[in-house]
Amino acid sequence: MNFLQKRIEQDGRILSSRILKVNTFLNHTVDPQLMARIGQAFADHFKEIHPTKVMTIEAGGIAPALMTALDLDIPLVYCKKAKPSTMDDPLFTEVFSFTKQTSYTLCMERASLDPEDRVLFIDDFLANGQAFIGIENLVSQAGAKLVGCGFCIEKAFQSGRSHILEKGYPLYSLAPIARFEEDRVIWLEEE
Ligand code: 5GP
Repeated sequence: MNFLQKRIEQDGRILSSRILKVNTFLNHTVDPQLMARIGQAFADHFKEIHPTKVMTIEAGGIAPALMTALDLDIPLVYCKKAKPSTMDDPLFTEVFSFTKQTSYTLCMERASLDPEDRVLFIDDFLANGQAFIGIENLVSQAGAKLVGCGFCIEKAFQSGRSHILEKGYPLYSLAPIARFEEDRVIWLEEE
């Protein structure tokens, strides 16, 4: 069991058979030391594919994605969930939110990516892969290339994993969950 899995066992809360709450260390209150280790782990894993930018979605993905970008010494682009009036030439796509059960418009400035960019997508959770589909769409509209996807927590019993693997992208999750059993997390490696 790695450092993130241990922290989830210690401080995570299972809210239902599908939702894990990690807002005391990952996506509301954020533990910077934990984020630094997460960033190192993603950077070590993905450095050989030579990403030129890290991408994520506000807000939960920003902390792990920023630490990954810091370790890889490349910029982070985070997509916004509403169009700011300051954007000159925005790219848009619709994303269905698993936790909020509603759609939102994902948005980024076209000039944030160059067609030569090799994009590494980092997010806090992988569930049904809707955020991944949105990022893949924006990267493709910008003419750039998605080269890998890293998630802090993956719920491998949902469909996101197969969407990503079917398309042939490298996928790496630090804490892949097979299922929740009452109030216990069953890790993929225990299955
Ligand atoms: P997906 O787009 O893969 O369907 O869902 C991923 C997004 O939904 C993540 O960025 C995260 O914000 C949210 N999410 C999915 N599952 C969970 C969960 O179990 N707990 C929390 N806190 N967020 C989740």
